[in-house]
Amino acid sequence: MKILVTGGAGFIGSNFILKYINKHEIINYDKLTYAGNLNNLNSIQNSSNYSFIKGCINDNKLFVDTLNTFKPNIILNFAAESHVDRSIDGPKTFIETNILGTFEMLNASLDYYNNLGALDKEKFKFLHVSTDEVYGSLGVNSRFKETTAYNPSSPYSASKASSDHLVNAWYKTFKLPILITNCSNNYGPYQFPEKLIPLVITNCLQYKEIPVYGNGENIRDWIYVDDHCDALYKVLENGIIGETYNIGGNQEVKNIDIVKNICNILDSKKPLDNFRSYSDLITFVKDRPGHDFRYAIDSSKIEKQLDYSPKDNIKTGLKKTIDWYLSNIEWVDEIRTQKYNQKRLGVI
Ligand code: NAD
Repeated sequence: MKILVTGGAGFIGSNFILKYINKHEIINYDKLTYAGNLNNLNSIQNSSNYSFIKGCINDNKLFVDTLNTFKPNIILNFAAESHVDRSIDGPKTFIETNILGTFEMLNASLDYYNNLGALDKEKFKFLHVSTDEVYGSLGVNSRFKETTAYNPSSPYSASKASSDHLVNAWYKTFKLPILITNCSNNYGPYQFPEKLIPLVITNCLQYKEIPVYGNGENIRDWIYVDDHCDALYKVLENGIIGETYNIGGNQEVKNIDIVKNICNILDSKKPLDNFRSYSDLITFVKDRPGHDFRYAIDSSKIEKQLDYSPKDNIKTGLKKTIDWYLSNIEWVDEIRTQKYNQKRLGVI
């Protein structure tokens, strides 16, 4: 496979590139927004399999030039605005990138695909990486299936839902060979510290308050990022064109329990003096507007059809993640000083 990855300098994209760069030629096309960080890819920047293009997915000319120069047979679309709280403060960028950007990419990809020879056409795939948040909020029972109706709540999830519909339409109407994945909450190395798990870890390390939205009872399914990357690779290898695959970690946990878990692990790995615990820092704050109560994924389709199963559970994944942040504190410090002042976002 020769893979054009968009958004490869972000959290999941960079984990994917680091994992597969020894197997495949990968071109990373990224605008380098606040969330893009080329430091994530320092270790492979001289690899002969790796190229980087600084570009926006809305820039049709540059995107078309990139396709024609590198001639990938796979387009793997991670590029997006990805933080719900930011979508509450400023929805417009989410519409521009997630909806219009996906539209521009689909248009350019279709032209490119239509001009390929018959053999190259057979190898071409456009994989769109999306979220379980498109399905909206669940009560205490049931789980999201691929057939669950879309019912997004936030500007972020609504923009991702729109992009999924566009990708499907380009398959149904124009026969562009697409695949879509909808995945649950990821965590692991290189995640921008505005997201819950790295936020809690980094606040603990600075002995700062840990803000917990509402009563902390909201439930998410958590997946270690490496398992998500495995699943994406399986979809690229053997997924059926035109299909959607839900990807989950089979680890439903309340937000407050995630926070307490992190505090407990840090209490043993980096003990505070005077018998204090990091959990003393937990502070309940005003809830996120439109906060979905529960997400849970039914991954049985990808498990059965593509032999996927997550390797990490929340305990093993959290330990690895915390170890990574403890060993890479300068990575966080650079973000904190240059890009993110840790202020609460998304309050109306
Ligand atoms: P991220 O915010 O860490 O990274 C996004 C990347 O996209 C950044 O490198 C950024 O520079 C780039 N980008 C943004 N706008 C761009 C544009 N207009 N043109 C080119 N590049 C642009 O996001 P992430 O957490 O790695 O998520 C990647 C994808 O996976 C997103 O599409 C997201 O919706 C989806 N997803 C994320 C999660 C999660 O828990 N993080 C779960 C399911 C699905």
